[in-house]
Amino acid sequence: MNCINHSTDIAVSQCMYCGKGLCVECTGKFSKPVCQDCVSVFRKKQKRAIVMDILLTFLIGLPVSILLSSLFHPTSPDYKYFLIYLGLGIVPGWKTLSRVTPQMFLFMSLLGWAIYFFIKGILSLFVGLISFPLLMIKNVMILLK
Ligand SMILES: [Zn+2]
Ligand SMILES: [Zn+2]
Repeated sequence: MNCINHSTDIAVSQCMYCGKGLCVECTGKFSKPVCQDCVSVFRKKQKRAIVMDILLTFLIGLPVSILLSSLFHPTSPDYKYFLIYLGLGIVPGWKTLSRVTPQMFLFMSLLGWAIYFFIKGILSLFVGLISFPLLMIKNVMILLK
């Protein structure tokens, strides 16, 4: 079998997704042996997922920001912007928490779940202070790639 990109070169590996042959040069192009076509498909899917992620962050985060503003009545503009920032961090914070906490409390009453989600929501706000900018930077860097 020869390389899909270089018809005169012998394939030394195969694309891990579609099985097309890759030469030494093409094998080393990415961290794993993948052909250009599969990389393009993967990047397209990844970008779509990121756009959805950003939309979700704002769709859930903005109402939370509004809720926080109505609860705390910010008097100074700085405080107001901080509350908006805090609210927008709830989705990234929630995701970070879900990643670090094991799946537990599986057998809880409805009240138990309500308390769990409430506490997790509050914690998410604070974790989001760090997760939100980190996730946005990561997403933008992938989108620009
Ligand atoms: Zn492939
Ligand atoms: Zn090649």
